[in-house]
Amino acid sequence: MKLYNSITRTKDEFIPNEAGKVTMYTCGPTVYHFAHIGNLRTYIMEDALVRSLEYLGYDVNRIMNITDVGHLTGDSDDGEDKMLKGAKREKKTVMEIAKFYTDAFFKDCEQLNIKMPTHVQPATGCIPEFINMIEKLLEGGFAYEAGGNVYFDISKLDKYYVFGEHNADDLEVGVRDGVEGDANKRNPADFALWFTKSKFDDQELKWDSPWGVGYPGWHIECSAISLKYGGEYLDIHCGGIDNAFPHHTNEIAQSEAFLGHKWCNFWFHVLHLNTASGKMSKSKGEFLILDLLKSKGYDPLAYRFFCLLSHYRKPLVFSYEALDNASTAYKKLRNRCSSIKEEGEIDPEAVAKAKEAFSDAVGNDINTSLAITAVYDVLKLNVSGATKRAIIADYDKVLALDLLTPFAAEEKKEETEAGDPEILAQIALRAEAKKAKNFAEADRIRNELAAKGITLIDTPNGTTYKIG
Ligand SMILES: [Zn+2]
Repeated sequence: MKLYNSITRTKDEFIPNEAGKVTMYTCGPTVYHFAHIGNLRTYIMEDALVRSLEYLGYDVNRIMNITDVGHLTGDSDDGEDKMLKGAKREKKTVMEIAKFYTDAFFKDCEQLNIKMPTHVQPATGCIPEFINMIEKLLEGGFAYEAGGNVYFDISKLDKYYVFGEHNADDLEVGVRDGVEGDANKRNPADFALWFTKSKFDDQELKWDSPWGVGYPGWHIECSAISLKYGGEYLDIHCGGIDNAFPHHTNEIAQSEAFLGHKWCNFWFHVLHLNTASGKMSKSKGEFLILDLLKSKGYDPLAYRFFCLLSHYRKPLVFSYEALDNASTAYKKLRNRCSSIKEEGEIDPEAVAKAKEAFSDAVGNDINTSLAITAVYDVLKLNVSGATKRAIIADYDKVLALDLLTPFAAEEKKEETEAGDPEILAQIALRAEAKKAKNFAEADRIRNELAAKGITLIDTPNGTTYKIG
């Protein structure tokens, strides 16, 4: 199998540390809000990677963290803890926010046929592991205490900027944009391992540590959680390309300084999903979440299909026109596949040949668009219906598009116990707009909901709504 590696910047032959087994780590969501569909693109393509490895015969041990503490709004230790931001926005506790959005994330995954990782670990459940790792880094001279915090000293490494193109310029941009530098740092790219003293005095979750009561930095959680469930040698680490620097760069720095040897062989990065106006974000324009697409009548699997049509290493531009096209193609394909009659004998030779073509596609750097083309090729084959169904069932182990399942009659839109996620997302956006004194935007959201027959009710405990 060939896999592109962000470290070598070439397509390399994938050879795991242990024959037949793959240990893989995935950076999980920061559970302070819904995942937008750009985040979900990353998880869909990582799922295609996992399923491709399994298709090719590997046994995959996949680990995912859930970030529920320490991820600041700025990636360079500036800004506010995102979890605290979410809790303030919704007037709830951090743990309530974490539970709600963790559940929402896995509900999205389920609807997109994304497999559950072998291990899922919230960061708040591993504080002793983080402290242990930080202690060893201090003992080894890779970390230092300053101003009450503990920092990693990047000058102690032979090479820090491992993903060449993501370099010191990124940090300088932050400085140019008026972000205050941290005077405690010996080098501008040093990063916090543990905070005790900072401007975030109202941090809700704090733990005792040898350096005082505080909380961990974001990067340390992935290194420690990966080591806990994946051991000292990792085969593949995945994430969105925006995590390559500084997050993954810092993970490598910590893990290898701690272990004293190379940690992870392959780095798999999924490129951004953009809109016509640029990079997708939670704060500008329409808040593109899966429930919004569903409310507009799109099948979540049509979105999966849309993502699989493009290669994970190319940026993908989202537009409703493009999604419409993908959605139409998906419906036609699934209707054609699911209506194939189970008739005749299965031709083992044809199945084996088809398997080979598909293995070539997914084994060539997870070429999912070629894998979908392979399904169209099956439809054209001059073989029995039973053979076609057998091949499509085999391909669908990777594609996970439910191709042999006929569409159900119009499904009724369900409402969750906590409320309709799309309306809740709009309420959250309105609260943020009000906080930023952008009353025009807050009114616009209220009016837009009113036009749909949804009335907002502001109470001292936050905003609720009623329909009709
Ligand atoms: Zn991570």
